[in-house]
Amino acid sequence: MKYDDDLEIINNLLPGLDLIKEKDFDLFENRIFAEKVLKYFSEATDNIRAKLNIELLFAFRLRQNFNARAHKENDKYIIIINHGTVDQLSKIIQDSISIFKRENIVAITGLPTDEDILLELFIYLISSYLFYHEFAHILQLSFDKRIDSYTFQEEYDNTSTYNFTNHVYEMDADLFGIAIGTILILQYIDDNKLPKNYVTLYNLLTLYILIVANIFIAFSKNITSIYYKNFLHPHPIIRVINCVEQIINIVSQNTRIDTPFFESILERYSKILDVMHLKAESVLIYSDVVKQNLGDILNYIDEIENSNEQFKELARHRVNEIYDLLGD
Ligand SMILES: [Zn+2]
Repeated sequence: MKYDDDLEIINNLLPGLDLIKEKDFDLFENRIFAEKVLKYFSEATDNIRAKLNIELLFAFRLRQNFNARAHKENDKYIIIINHGTVDQLSKIIQDSISIFKRENIVAITGLPTDEDILLELFIYLISSYLFYHEFAHILQLSFDKRIDSYTFQEEYDNTSTYNFTNHVYEMDADLFGIAIGTILILQYIDDNKLPKNYVTLYNLLTLYILIVANIFIAFSKNITSIYYKNFLHPHPIIRVINCVEQIINIVSQNTRIDTPFFESILERYSKILDVMHLKAESVLIYSDVVKQNLGDILNYIDEIENSNEQFKELARHRVNEIYDLLGD
């Protein structure tokens, strides 16, 4: 596809969005990073159009705030990413790797691969998480043909009211995005003949979840205390634990890992997250929140899970089928 051609179509459907043309990519703080994200999104969009017969378009928008959106407009589906999101993602990935590198366990085991390769891998993995999270919203929207126009917003709004259905949709989109990324990590280990052992998995998965946690925190604008049935979006820590459960589900189908691995990843990522955010003077001690509320958080995730059958439009019901179609 031609990215600029998509912009024309989107401008006609949703005027006044300040979309960024490819020749104006200097507007990004890190043009090289933005071009890598563009390449990933373009290839994924082309693949979906060709294999799933969904009229998908995407664009970057000139807006500083950390936000992404999925739209349905008649029979067109549109993903919009703010340029501020791409700029911050670049920093989140680099900062997460540099803190991770200094952690005790990494000091003993070493990084799974060279740092520059790790950076490239995580640009790819995080682009895939973001893209497929938004694409899951597109799948949710494409299920009901009666909906003409709808928008999902990722940015948290602390004046919004609780909406159970929206929590179900967000957690579903997270599971879909994280599932694709986890499958890519396992493929990466196979393709590069890295040892598929606890140490490699433990390090790659912890780093992955650390970066995803930082993305949720950026969307939520540093929300402080834990909440359950409040606001339009689920609390970022609930989303992270939901994602870790999904990662463990997928990895355990391919390797022999179990409950202690789950608990250990939770403990480890949240401690590294504390180190990062204490530096940034955050008031929330993530490892304490996880430890003190794990039971209630898992109960809330169960409540969402138990309602899934009522929502036929969820992407999770189609993840295997979609993955097989896209992978062919
Ligand atoms: Zn979402």
